[in-house]
Amino acid sequence: MQMGSSILVVGGGIGGMAAALALHRAGQAVELIEADATWNALGAGLTLNGGALRAFADLGLLEAVVAAGYASVGPVRACDEQGVVLGQGSSDPLFGEGIPNMGGILRPRLHEVMRQAIEQAGIPVTTGLCAERYEEIEGAVRVHTSDGGWRDHAFVVAADGLMSRTRAQLFPDLGKPRFTGQGCWRAVVSRPEDVTATWVYSAQYAKAGFNPISQDLMYVYLLESAPGNPWIEAADWLPLLKARLSRFGGHFRAIVEELNEDSLINYRPLEVILMPRPWHKGRVLLTGDAAHATTPHVGYGAGMAIEDAVVLGRLVNEHDDIEALFTAFTDRRYERCRAILEGSVAIGQLELDDAPFAEQRALSVSLGSILREPI
Ligand SMILES: Cc1cc2nc3c(=O)[nH]c(=O)nc-3n(C[C@H](O)[C@H](O)[C@H](O)COP(=O)(O)OP(=O)(O)OC[C@H]3O[C@@H](n4cnc5c(N)ncnc54)[C@H](O)[C@@H]3O)c2cc1C
Repeated sequence: MQMGSSILVVGGGIGGMAAALALHRAGQAVELIEADATWNALGAGLTLNGGALRAFADLGLLEAVVAAGYASVGPVRACDEQGVVLGQGSSDPLFGEGIPNMGGILRPRLHEVMRQAIEQAGIPVTTGLCAERYEEIEGAVRVHTSDGGWRDHAFVVAADGLMSRTRAQLFPDLGKPRFTGQGCWRAVVSRPEDVTATWVYSAQYAKAGFNPISQDLMYVYLLESAPGNPWIEAADWLPLLKARLSRFGGHFRAIVEELNEDSLINYRPLEVILMPRPWHKGRVLLTGDAAHATTPHVGYGAGMAIEDAVVLGRLVNEHDDIEALFTAFTDRRYERCRAILEGSVAIGQLELDDAPFAEQRALSVSLGSILREPI
């Protein structure tokens, strides 16, 4: 048995690592456990828009993240299926002085940057260890772990992702994440010189786009309706993605040509869950995807998880009482996360309904102004 008053972060994904870093920067003793012994991330690209970059600046990681990925002031370009530009966003700084409007990074590179920061901060990490059950005891929460042991902590930040075991144990009535009707393909290809920011191509019942993730690379995505949520074998990903992207013109001609057996490709059905308030029970607080897993339509799931961490770090020293801290945290986060998540799902629904481009764009623009609000 380990006794102690430190904070335990459960989950070493983007949200958990950000929470550990933010709490450490706030002067708290914090530890992290991660179920995966290899502590690896999927080799896919990730959009980091200005809000996520602003949150990384708060954690002192903006420079390192930009150096490991790609960032620019934009503009975002919206095209028709054949690559004819229909509209473009602003190149003015939208998120504050020194914060790029948008960026992208390969997930394993972001993990590496965050892992290094955790190591440099001296935050204790145990990998290959799973939080299995929580028990409230006098003045602490006891976390029972997959090695048969337990540890006592002042409180727990559970950032254990979309399929959160913590949520299932503490909020059994909430049910499972909901399939939205769409699937998302992602692949990594080389970056043409003219792609310095996000491009989005809209087609009937599908949207495809790309975003730079380094000087040499960009990631490509395809969002499409997936009636019945079919299981797609990994062996079929390459031919299916090539076939599906072939309907698009412009940059996609070279992209389809380039995709091959060695390309990093993956497919994921989209699932969402928004926990109603409260996001805590006793001394356990849920953050990141565990509390609010969204779709990638505004590229902000990870951004919200990093923002959670920043806000928790700001609030942790303002409250002696854990209940008051968790309530203040959820008061600050709930509405923003709800608006972004529901807006993101609504964009997906407009795609499923094949709504006019102008309607889809208007919703994206209004969500953009929510992202820019201070946290
Ligand atoms: C197709 C797709 C594309 C996306 N694209 C973007 C994008 O471009 N930009 C963006 O911002 N977001 C994007 N997202 C969302 C983003 O990936 C997530 O919001 C983000 O990764 C959530 O981070 P997290 O740390 O909360 O959860 P996760 O990344 O799921 O991390 C959870 C961690 O907890 C560990 N764990 C689980 N259970 C336990 C346990 N019991 N004990 C200990 N450890 C445990 C897991 O091993 C994992 O490491 C996308 C999502 C999808 C599905």
